[in-house]
Formats: sequence, C-alpha cells, structure tokens
Amino acid sequence: MSDTTVEKHAFQAEIQQLLDLVVHSLYTDKDIFLRELISNASDSMEKVRHLEGTEKDIKDSGDELKISLEIDKDAKTITLTDRGIGMNREELVANLGTIAHSGTKAFLEQLKETGGSPAGLIGQFGVGFYSAFMVADKVEVFSRSWKQDAQSLRWESDGKTGYEIEEVDELPRGVKIILYLNEASEEFADDMRVKGLIERYSNFVGFPIMMDDKRLNEVEALWLKSKSEVSEEDYKEFYKFACKGFDEPAYRLHFSADAPISINALIFAPGENPEKMGFGKVDAGVALYCKKVLIDAEPKGLLPDWLRFVKGVVDSADLPLNISRETMQDSALVRKLNGVISKRIIKMFEKEANADPAKYREFYKKFERFFKEGIATDFANKDALAKLLRFESSMTDAGELCSLTDYVGRMKEGQEKIYFLVGRSRDDIESGPYIEAFKARGLEVIYFTDSVDEYVVDSLGEFDGKKLSSIRHAGVDLEDVDSGADSLSEDEITKLCEYLQNELGDGVTKVSSGKRLVDSPVIALVPEDGMSPQVRQMMKAMDENFKDEVKVELEINPRHPLVKKLSEITEGQPEVAKLVAAQLLDNALISAGLLDDARETIKRMNSLMEKAMG
Ligand code: ADP
Repeated sequence: MSDTTVEKHAFQAEIQQLLDLVVHSLYTDKDIFLRELISNASDSMEKVRHLEGTEKDIKDSGDELKISLEIDKDAKTITLTDRGIGMNREELVANLGTIAHSGTKAFLEQLKETGGSPAGLIGQFGVGFYSAFMVADKVEVFSRSWKQDAQSLRWESDGKTGYEIEEVDELPRGVKIILYLNEASEEFADDMRVKGLIERYSNFVGFPIMMDDKRLNEVEALWLKSKSEVSEEDYKEFYKFACKGFDEPAYRLHFSADAPISINALIFAPGENPEKMGFGKVDAGVALYCKKVLIDAEPKGLLPDWLRFVKGVVDSADLPLNISRETMQDSALVRKLNGVISKRIIKMFEKEANADPAKYREFYKKFERFFKEGIATDFANKDALAKLLRFESSMTDAGELCSLTDYVGRMKEGQEKIYFLVGRSRDDIESGPYIEAFKARGLEVIYFTDSVDEYVVDSLGEFDGKKLSSIRHAGVDLEDVDSGADSLSEDEITKLCEYLQNELGDGVTKVSSGKRLVDSPVIALVPEDGMSPQVRQMMKAMDENFKDEVKVELEINPRHPLVKKLSEITEGQPEVAKLVAAQLLDNALISAGLLDDARETIKRMNSLMEKAMG
C-alpha cells in the first residue's frame, strides 16, 4: 500500500537563510556534525525509554537501543541508524523544515539583532540536525515513527531550497540518516577519523555506538550514577581512562545538585603535582558535558585558574548543547557552575583534611602552591581557602603542621592579632631576634617559610576577623614582662636613644626602648607599609640597579649588658662608642635580612677587634 508520490516542500525562509550560513560560513568546527546527530539519536532513544513506561503498543518494542554507524569509503557516505521514536510525516516537516526548535530559533533571533551579520554568531550556536549540511551535499533521512500504524518515510534534501518526502517500504522503528559527503569533507569517510570523533565528543553517550560490530563508546558516564552504584575500582578505572590520570588520585568529589543549577560532577584531585614534575603550567582538567555529550574538554572559566590541577567531569543538563567555547566564559550559567563547584571542592579538601590530617599533610606538601595562588587571585574563595593553609609555628614541633583555625583556637585571652614571621626556614626564624619577645609572652607565631608566603599573607589580610600581623613590623604592641634583669633608668634610656639617633642619622627613623627583647641587644623593625626582605630580594634579583633606602626603627633592650655598657661609655670612650653604635645597627640589619653591603661592616669590625686587643 506504499504511496509512491513524492511530496515537494520548500524550506521556511529562515531555514534557507540558516542553511546558507551553515554551508558557506561555518567552516571552523565541522567536527561537531557527528556529535549533533548522535545527540539527537540518543535523545530520541531516551524518549523510547520513557514511552515504554506509559505506552503498551510501541513498534519494535524490545529492540536493543543502540546507534549504528556505517562508513562507505567508496561511496563517500556515512550512515547513522538509531532505534529512537522516529518521526512521522508532520514531524519531519515540523522538525526538519521549520524552526520549531530552540537552538535554531535563538540563532536566528541573534542574527536579526545584529542586523544579519553572521561573522560573530557562527559557532556560537550549534545548529543541530542542519550541521549535517556542513559536510554533506545531500542528506537522506529514513524515518519510522513508534506508532504501529505510522508510515515509513524517506526525507531528502540538498540543503539548498527545499526537501522532498515520500513513502517507502516498511522500515524498523527509528531514524536512519545517510550523509553524502561533499568534496571538502571526504576525510570523514574514514573509520579512524569517525572513531576519533566519537571518542572525543560522544564517549559517554548512554547507548552503545556500534561500528563493524564493535562498540566505540566504552566508558560509562559514572558521574550520572549514584555513589552507591559505583565501586572503588570503577572510580580508579575512570580516573585512568577518562581523565588520563597516570597516578592514584588522592581525593575525589562525586556530587549532584539541582539548585541553583543542575550539576552532576565527578572530580579527582591527583596524587602527584604535574607542575612540580617540570611540565610547566597544566591546562584545565575538568571537562564540561551536557547530558553525557562533550561541550568542551578544556573549558575556560568553568573553574578558577588555580584549580587547574583537578581532573574530571562536570555535566549540566541546563547548558545549551550548542554553547561554544567563545561564549562559554561569558555565560552566566558557567559562572554559576564555577561558583558552586569551586566551593564544593574547597569544602571537600577541608573535610578530608580534618578526617585524615596525615594524608592531607602529604597532599598539601605537593599542592600548597595552588591553594596559595587561589588566595592571591580568587577573591570569592580566599577566605575558604585560608582554612586549607598549613604551616609550622612557634608552638609546633619541627615538621609538624597546623592550620589558622588551630592557631585561633590557641590564641591567648585578649590577643587580637595573628602573629607571623616570614623567613627562609624554621631555623632562620628561630635564631633571629624577632621571635624571643613573643616566646617570652607565650604568644604563638606562625612561621611562613615558602617564598610566596609574603604575597599570600598580604592578599589574605585577616582570618576569622583577626588581622595577620608580621612581628617584623613596628607597631606591634606587647605588654610588659618582667625579665628580672636590671634595666637602664628612664633618664639613661632617653639619653642613649638620643645619642644613637644622632650617631646613626638617616639610617634610622626612630630609636626607642622596647619590651620585645629578651636576649638580643637591639632589633630593627620595618614600617608596616615597608618592603619586606623577601620582596626586596626579589626586586634585586630582577633589577641589579635596584636600590631602596632601608629605613628602620631601632628598638634597644635596656636590660642587655651590651646596651648598658654602651650607655656608660658614650662620653668616656667616644670613639669606641661610635663604632659600637654603628655595629649594633648593622647587626640588627643583618638579622632582618636587610644589609646589602657588608664592606663597611667588615672594616668596622676590624677596628673594633684591634681596639679590643688594645
Ligand atoms: P534540536 O536537537 O536542538 O531540537 P535539531 O535540528 O537537531 O534541533 O533537531 C530538530 C528536531 O528534530 C529534534 O528536536 C527532534 O524532535 C527531531 N529529530 C532530530 N533527529 C532525530 C532523530 N534521530 N530521531 C527522532 N527525532 C529527531
């Protein structure tokens, strides 16, 4: 009873316009045609699954839901067959001849807004089925809808002005599309090429994609399963094959959310830091999918840059499949994803760190630079990231690490600031003069020993409402402790300070007697807005002519024998006193890491030694 009349249709005007663009301007990303067709096939088979829940009488019910690909090298054709719901005559006309569907509509609306200039728009929208005409100059669609009494139909078009539909002999349910490749696209009549496309874009499609009786998409989209359905082994395999991980992942985060945006994510923190192995800055490792179909393997803006070391998949059903790389970064959806996911990842690290501090310490040693980069560059997350920092302090044993939260928990009553010192090493810090006053008062001092810590602390500013304060700075207020030793009198102190101020001239902004010191005679304090020794060293390394005048405040210890002696001899032995005064300042500068030129110091030392020996 097959009716052989051929029905001729003209494309809707907009479709013609669109097709013209597809064929003539859309050269850049031809690859995507297969992804688009496979997505349609997969969506359509998904619909069969749903129908099976409500409909009893579905044509070919029970057939395996799969997609088959056939390539004919000689005829230069690609044939794609699915067992989806198919389309009847009206649906063929509506779906493949008018703009009933969203992607294309949006494309054309944009086109109108920009006055019809396609340049910037091409590539911003996928064009679904019509992308077939990027690679084919003729497309045949054989379609049989799921209803038992539906016709078997053949749709054909050259993608120019119109299409025709005719009835054909009985077909199985679903759609078969034959692409007659155009001359410029003959490369796609190649098994390897097509396999490559499937692997790249459609590896996780939920239905088997078959070619020559072999399944091409092997890896399951684990991220869409619930945690209880996935074994440790599955996760490991996934990390190895899907994320190309060569190590054992240290941590993983598998979660889904519906609000404020639909997310299914499976993200791994690797066991080894690839940037530490000399490969340079790595590319983002979390790919973006929409319902198992790859949108972008290295999406910009999906995660903050400092999170480039994590690997995995983020899948959002809310994303338009046809979002392009160019618009990705500006997309409000992607920004939302970024916000939600980066917070979840930081929370995950925090939880894991609390659950197994020893494991976290090992991880931290390899990856701390990423967290620190985050604090310096990711304003929205810096406070959360601060909780991930670990360091030694004056109250930890060497090699043991603690957190800012630990520190705050140990703060003394009335202590308002978090004290820290940046130095080369624990030894370096502990042998300097700065720490002693804090030790004597039982105040904990954080030891920051990484060369970037200076910037990190600067960016952080405070933690838990408490200011981070360098003990190298002037203006740190300490209460008195009774050191037991005899001190110079107020008068003697005033006189000695005046003397030193006079002697040292421009080198010091202020000389005062302080409460900080216990064992050292003097200490050099830098102004709070001054350059730290680490920053100065950097500047010097970058610019050999770099010179800045070191200006410090000198604090003297009125209980120290050397200071007391100096106060005695300023008048009786002015020459020695002069030398000692200058030497005291240099010693303080050396301790502070601020002495640039030691030639004068050495000369003076020599004179002092001569004098000492009489
Ligand atoms: P989109 O997928 O964005 O809606 P397309 O141009 O790719 O746009 O497809 C238009 C419509 O054609 C689809 O929404 C669907 O209803 C129908 N369609 C496309 N391919 C198939 C298929 N293989 N099986 C059944 N229906 C299909």
